[in-house]
This record gives sequence, structure tokens and C-alpha cells, in this order.
Amino acid sequence: MINIPSTIEDPAYRYKMPRMELKQESRLNGVKTNIFNLSDVAEALRVPDDFIIKYMCAELGVGKEKKSIIKGSHPYEIMVEVLDSFITKFILCPKCNLPEISLFAEKKILKGGCRACGKVSKLDNAHKISNHIIRNIPKDMSEIDVKIRVGDEDDKSTTSKKSKKGKKGKKKKKDKDLEESKEDEKEELDDEEEKLTIESTEVAETIESISDIFTEKGDDMSIDDKKDEIRNQCVSIAAERDLKYYIALNSILCKIQPEGEDQKAKNVYMNTILLTFQKSASIFTSMIEEDGEEGTKCFIMAMVNFFITQRPDLDIAIAGFCKIAYDSNIISEEVFLAWADKKFKTDKKSSVYDKKAEKKFRKAAQKFLTWLQEAEEDEGEESEEEEEENEELTEEQKKAKKMEQLIKEEKLKQEQALAESKAKADEEEKQQEEEGQKIDLMADKADVPEEDDFDIDDI
Ligand SMILES: [Zn+2]
Repeated sequence: MINIPSTIEDPAYRYKMPRMELKQESRLNGVKTNIFNLSDVAEALRVPDDFIIKYMCAELGVGKEKKSIIKGSHPYEIMVEVLDSFITKFILCPKCNLPEISLFAEKKILKGGCRACGKVSKLDNAHKISNHIIRNIPKDMSEIDVKIRVGDEDDKSTTSKKSKKGKKGKKKKKDKDLEESKEDEKEELDDEEEKLTIESTEVAETIESISDIFTEKGDDMSIDDKKDEIRNQCVSIAAERDLKYYIALNSILCKIQPEGEDQKAKNVYMNTILLTFQKSASIFTSMIEEDGEEGTKCFIMAMVNFFITQRPDLDIAIAGFCKIAYDSNIISEEVFLAWADKKFKTDKKSSVYDKKAEKKFRKAAQKFLTWLQEAEEDEGEESEEEEEENEELTEEQKKAKKMEQLIKEEKLKQEQALAESKAKADEEEKQQEEEGQKIDLMADKADVPEEDDFDIDDI
């Protein structure tokens, strides 16, 4: 056992924690550091395990891998130094320096009430993890506090809210502060205990974690591997179906950002989004095979959220995106048309749902929906006249022609932009070899035959 914090040298010091047991582990995607006895350390500090792990990640600038594992190889000396700084910030009372702080939030500000000296202090609210702490203050902390305060007055009834309020007048100022904030804290906790939403930190972290894995492993991962990764990570945070689709779509696309402000860069950005989605589309096809219509709803909500809420600059890519979703059997013609007519409804109760955004998306997808609609009408009008040829093929060909006309302009623009950026990339390659990665991306893109992306003849 070592002292809390480890910098205190007195062997007789009464506050002790276990020494961290670290193991460096080498895995497919790099070296990790595992804190084997994280739970014991966290218990000694009376905080949840993830406060420590998240703090470590924030301080060391690395990602979290699993519950007790962080990315990278970190020696004990560094880890214990970081742990001590965590203790100083969130465990020790700033006044008496004893690890007797009880965390609570008051008007979204993280504070600590000292069980030893009674001082209420504002803690480091600027730290990256302070919001996470506020949202996840353990319940038993308030129980410990209630016991302490009740113990002082030897009055068990103070545990009920009503009698607590009745006693307030007699209490010292500091106790009163602590108690009021305790109630705020409880309310916040109740809110946080509700289901995960797209706002939840866990959801954002899961997207980050999956997209890191996809980026690191790249094409070494099969579609099934990717699907499994998404599913496993969603299960581990108990994400429901709507969030699973949201997480999946964002994990695949979130790392793609425009490389510049000019039209060329925007076209490359848009094309990268569409190509990346096209490459991974079968993940969704397969998910929807399992989930049925509910899955389609979730996909539509995720798609609307991505384009309208997150990337409004990509509205020009919406028609192309819908086309890929249609070609990949993610959304059928029937569903698309019913959804355009508001007859196929998404899930109002979901946190991914956004009525206004959906309306905007419909508008932006109009080109595609009109094409689909007209092709549908043509089918009705002309199918009787068809004589020799395979009907289905002919209809599909007609659809193809219409869609082709509609997107021809955009396609030409994109091809031009790609050719230009390829030329630019070649130029840059000579000048800046350190930017290899960026160039690779562009080169990759240029290798993909353009005809495959938007060509409808192969439906
Ligand atoms: Zn104190």
C-alpha cells in the first residue's frame, strides 16, 4: 500500500491505496497499458473506476481501450504522477489536504465538501473530465455525507427530505450549503440515470473508439468484423437500436473532414463521404436484414441527423447518398416513396429523431425522390406497352437514364475536381513527402473507377 497521494512519505499515514499494478500489453492495434487493480485503487479513493481512467486518458492525451486499459505504453512513474494529480484535484480537500472530499454538483459546478474539516470548495471545473464527474457522481457519496451530518446531530430522521428542510434553520451555514447542493445533485443524478441519448458522453466515446479502430485496421477488417465491432461496443454501453445506427454511421464517416475551403476541396470531401459510405453500405444492409423495418427507421434518422444536424455543408451530397442507400438495398423504393409522402414514419421517441431536420432532408433529397417517383409512374404507364424485352430490366434502364441525367452535372463536376486534386496531389507529392497520408487518400480515390460510384446501369 502507498499513501494518498503517493508523495506523502510518512509510513504511518492513515490514508492508503494499493500501488497500481501495470501491465503493458501488445495487441493488434498497438501497445496498451492495463491497470490490473484499477478497481481496488478506485475503491480506496472512493470514486468510480472510469474517473481515473478518463483522467489518465485526458492527461496523457491517449484513448481509452477497455475498462482498465489505455492506449500506449506508460511507465509506472508517469502513471503514479498522473494519479497523484487526479487525487490533488478531485480527492484531497484544498483546505486540510485530507482525502475526505465528497463530490457534489451545484448549478453544474463541481464542488467538494470535506468530511474532515467541513470546508466546501470549488474544484477544478476547467478540467476535461469535470463534466463527466458531475454527471456520474456516485450515489453512495451522498449516503456517506448524510450519515456524517446525521451522526453529528444524532438524528436519523434527517435522511428524509422534509425533515432536512425543517432543520435547515438550525444548521451552520456550511452545512446548509452542502445540503442544498446535495439536493441539486440528486436531481441531476436522476436525470442522468435516464436512457442513453445522442448527447451522452458514452455515445460520443463509442463513436470515437470504433472509428479509431476502423482507421487503424482499415481494409484488414471485413464488413462482418466491422459489424461485430459496432455491435459489441453498442452492447457494452447498452445502446438501443436507434443509437446503434447512429453510432455505426458516425463511426464510418466522422473522421472525414474537408481539407480546405475552396470548391475543389469541398468536392473531394463530398466524394470521400459518398465513396466511404458506399464501401461500408453492406454493414447497414446486413443490420437491416436483421432488424427489419425498425432498422430502416433508425437508419433514416441517423442519415438525417448526419446531413442536416452535423454536416449541413454536405447537403449537395444528399441525393447521391440516398441513391447509394437505395442501390445497396438499405432503403427500398417503397419505403423511400412512403417516407417522402410522410406515410412511413420514423420514431418520434428516439433522441436521434428530429422533425425539422427530416423536413429539410426531404427537401434536399427531392432530386432523388422525384427521380424515384417518376420512374415509378413510368412503370405504371408503360409496362403494358412493353413487348419483347425483359420488363424489369427495361424499367430499371429507364430509371437509370433519368437519374443519370439528373446527376450528370454533379458527376462531371466531381470528376473534374477529382482529376484536379489528383494532379495537385502528384505535384504535392514531390514537394511534401511528409504529407504522405493525405496524398494516399487522394490517390486511393482516384484509383476507384468513377463509373462505379454513380453509374446506375449496373442496378
Ligand atoms: Zn478539509
